[in-house]
Amino acid sequence: MTNPVPTVRPRPTVAELPRYSRAAGLSQIRWRASSNESTVPPSPLVQKAIVDAAAHANLYPSLQGDQLVEDLSERLQVTPEQIVVGGGSLALLQHTLAAYTGAGTQVVHAWRSYEAYPILIGVVGATAVPVALDADHTHDVDAMLAAVTPATRAIIVCNPNNPTGTELPRTEIERIVTSVPDNVLVLLDEAYQEFATADVDGLSLVRHHPNVVVFRTFSKAYGLAGLRAGYMIAHPDIADNVRAAAPPFGLSLLAEAGARAAWSDIAHTDHIVEVVCDGREYLRREAARRGLKTPVSGANFVWFPVGSRALEFADACVEQGVSVRAFEGEGVRVTVGDRDAEDAVLTAIDSLDWQSARLERCAPGR
Ligand SMILES: *Cc1c(COP(=O)(O)O)cnc(C)c1O
Repeated sequence: MTNPVPTVRPRPTVAELPRYSRAAGLSQIRWRASSNESTVPPSPLVQKAIVDAAAHANLYPSLQGDQLVEDLSERLQVTPEQIVVGGGSLALLQHTLAAYTGAGTQVVHAWRSYEAYPILIGVVGATAVPVALDADHTHDVDAMLAAVTPATRAIIVCNPNNPTGTELPRTEIERIVTSVPDNVLVLLDEAYQEFATADVDGLSLVRHHPNVVVFRTFSKAYGLAGLRAGYMIAHPDIADNVRAAAPPFGLSLLAEAGARAAWSDIAHTDHIVEVVCDGREYLRREAARRGLKTPVSGANFVWFPVGSRALEFADACVEQGVSVRAFEGEGVRVTVGDRDAEDAVLTAIDSLDWQSARLERCAPGR
């Protein structure tokens, strides 16, 4: 039976949006290294908090996640008015774009960077202005600043960058903040901040620059990707407008309880970070021994800039039981944190002939 097709049409910008890619072949794999999830399950405290909260699931949560906001405020040394919590940091980025950009405005971001950016920007009707990474797979700050026009309302900086793992030093972030006009928001996506090797911390900038917004998440270093919880820090005026642009009750009762428990268990987060740092050092070192150079990563993944060999490499990983994220013609992103999965990726590397890729991508001395 064929169902009738709707004749109602979405806004043209929505019809044209790229669709999120779905991790492929997950049923036949043993290890998921394609979505940057934590390989370590959440703290036992989280599981208990969620079960306890479930008994009250008949009730709405607080309007703005008040208790989680309190907890965050205390440790981050910012006022509750500066914090917005929600169902993942991506939702908060969406609400921020909805509040401050839209038709006729532009949003600058690096590319390759997080695949969600062009979609979120497109949804609100703004124009995405992608700026190519430099030869070191890092944000090209000069080119991004040059892309700012009178129509620019925001510039998104993914630090550390997904999928390359590269970090911008504080001086470069400061250069962006002091170079853009005051009416341009600087949106610092710090989803991987806890794993950074450099001094990645936009919070101090929020204090002195009212146009800076920092986004963080419980999805990575807190092991809560499935729960959906994130937060943003901004000037109280900006936070207020973002809350106004968001649907109420954005953080579920269970997500708030789980996030509060995860936030309280510092030792558990330290453990997740330790496992990740150990895994990425191992994978980068062993790949380098096999002739594959990778950029220093400040995140829970390693980027293999193998260019035209990306799909072939990803297939070889699946053959060894690991799903990874391939970007055709660019490279492959591998989430770390499970030694068996890392060894399977190394076996995949060994199964291919890298002579041509090495010549193509790794300039001498890099
Ligand atoms: C994983 C990730 C996020 C997290 O999004 P949530 O909605 O909080 O799960 C945000 N930004 C980037 C760049 C990411 O890679």
